[in-house]
Amino acid sequence: MAEQESLEFGKADFVLLDQVTMEHFMENLKLRFEMGRIYTYIGEVVVSMNPYKQTQLYGKDVIEQYQGRELYERPPHLYAVADAAYKAMKRRAKDTCIVISGESGAGKTEASKYIMQYIAAITNPSQREEVERVKNVLLKSNCVLEAFGNAKTNRNDNSSRFGKYMDINFDFKGDPTGGHINNYLLEKVRPWVPSGLLLGASDPRLVSLHLCRDPAAYRFTSEGLLTSDQSNFKAVADAMKVIGFSPEEINSVYKILATILHLGNVSFVTEGDAVAIENRELVSQLAELTSTQPESLLRTLLYRAVATGGGEVIEKGHSGKEANYARDACAKAIYERLFCWIVGRINTVIEVKNYDARLHGKNTVIAVLDIYGFEIFESNSRTRPYPPPPLPACTGAGIEYFNNQIIVDLVEQPHKGIISILDEACLTGGQVTDAMFLESMNTKLGKHPHYTSRKLCATDKSMEFGRDFRIKHYAGNVTYSVEGFIDKNKDTLFQDFKRLMYNSTDPVLRDMWPEGEVSITEVTKRPLTAATLFKNSMVALVENLASKEPYYVRCIKPNDQKSPLLFDAERCRHQVEYLGLLENVRVRRAGFAYRQPYDRFLLRYKMTCEYTWPNHLMPTDQEATRALIDQHGFQDDVAYGHTKIFIRMPQTLFCLEQERAQL
Ligand code: ADP
Ligand code: MG
Repeated sequence: MAEQESLEFGKADFVLLDQVTMEHFMENLKLRFEMGRIYTYIGEVVVSMNPYKQTQLYGKDVIEQYQGRELYERPPHLYAVADAAYKAMKRRAKDTCIVISGESGAGKTEASKYIMQYIAAITNPSQREEVERVKNVLLKSNCVLEAFGNAKTNRNDNSSRFGKYMDINFDFKGDPTGGHINNYLLEKVRPWVPSGLLLGASDPRLVSLHLCRDPAAYRFTSEGLLTSDQSNFKAVADAMKVIGFSPEEINSVYKILATILHLGNVSFVTEGDAVAIENRELVSQLAELTSTQPESLLRTLLYRAVATGGGEVIEKGHSGKEANYARDACAKAIYERLFCWIVGRINTVIEVKNYDARLHGKNTVIAVLDIYGFEIFESNSRTRPYPPPPLPACTGAGIEYFNNQIIVDLVEQPHKGIISILDEACLTGGQVTDAMFLESMNTKLGKHPHYTSRKLCATDKSMEFGRDFRIKHYAGNVTYSVEGFIDKNKDTLFQDFKRLMYNSTDPVLRDMWPEGEVSITEVTKRPLTAATLFKNSMVALVENLASKEPYYVRCIKPNDQKSPLLFDAERCRHQVEYLGLLENVRVRRAGFAYRQPYDRFLLRYKMTCEYTWPNHLMPTDQEATRALIDQHGFQDDVAYGHTKIFIRMPQTLFCLEQERAQL
């Protein structure tokens, strides 16, 4: 059990609640938050409240307190979980993963950084150069990924638009030798996310990119630009250098960012039937920045190539609306490809080489997963109608998965599931609307016990007719709006644009569009849709996690005002439900909730028994522990291990704690 602080700070472990009810849970959560105790356990799971203020919780002194300790010896902390995962990896050669979940703004990314900093701090005592390099890249990668992948939203000033999975590889000494990052773009991001960064560049740099420093001059930065985007420029540039991006690559990255900004400003005019570009000077600038031919670029902005049935290719002019849409789709695509390229580039410098692995023997992994929370209350359409992966719960025996299969089937089943219905709608061609997709789901899923919509449930006014559907997840209902589903699921990017990019003489840009090589007539095979790609990546992720020993951090956001003082009970309760935390506590209490080495157990409770206070005279600690337990009458609730006592009910420990406190 967590080292008990005085009871005025609440229970350091929810397992010790007098009763497992939402009320008791919330009361403890609130008390601890108000006392500045942002971390609380459920067994080995850390529940973390975002403090929304700087704390003294992450200093070097704190790191030292947790290093090499058992989980329950110190107050609950991320460091304790990081240490537990590290020990399992090092002592037992287990691959482990730390799964961090919670909604946007709950503190996942911050938690993942503290965990990495902890691991970096406790490893490589002998200061091996190569290990230092790897550690440095891993730490610096956060800065770059955040600069390129985050956006300010009204819920979070620094919201990741991607889920991040990071493997850290360790050698037999327990030092990091490499790693790998997987990113999951969770929504089609607005491309101004990283481009604003550029406006902090030097004057000569801006001139060479045909840019001015004023964010208002660009459609993509005129709203929602953070000043920190600009001031961050130097830090990001330095981080990229440290990671090992070459000057040429960094140059290309700047040019690509500038391309996004300029592209956003391209405007169209309609002249009769034809559409033309109003600000022609941008075309030559864009061609220069992308190292492509101005005529080709112009054509892709105004036309698209269509393959006819006979294998012929004809050019079809965009309408004004199509041209606007295509321009933004291209800007988004450039941004997404750039982000993926950066992740891939970071991976090349931290990849564990086979040669190294052979040299250093077994290679174990700690994975850190920082996955974007579903913003339940947001009415925005979600990019993908996907439930969270099955949430494992800790039990004494190991890991038990909630049976989420029925939901998984609802979404994934071939021919019948939501993704299939969506793909079918997108691939039939012709004009398909979001409403038609909803109608099709209503027809095919109307009888499914976990699916409903306003049409099927006319009395439920919280859903909008013709727009919303609802999935009953294990932890509650989630309403999704179909708005934008069709668009986002189609690969609306035209092949000619990809080919243009592929034919760029800028090697970085070219690298990002490998499929541009394919000629238009060859593109007969339908590409996988966004939903299917996402599903596949999630399935792979869940499989990967299942092969590792899991540790969990559950993040909760105390309020929507970013206030360090406000505990919004309603918002918190919803997150507790959504994260299935009560369920966690119950499962945890059902097994042997606690195990402790005899000597530590005695140290803590010896004052509650006449045979053990001040010191026992028995041959072993185990026998002394038996005497203590017998005196309290708890024999039925414990088991005696080789070196540890196992206690089934948290109530037992709770009684011991009470006894202790009353002395
Ligand atoms: P998420 O990744 O879950 O969307 P973040 O980790 O980005 O959320 O946290 C959002 C903001 O909350 C951070 O930018 C920071 O201001 C604040 N925050 C989160 N965790 C902490 C913490 N442990 N200490 C101080 N501030 C925090
Ligand atoms: Mg984040």
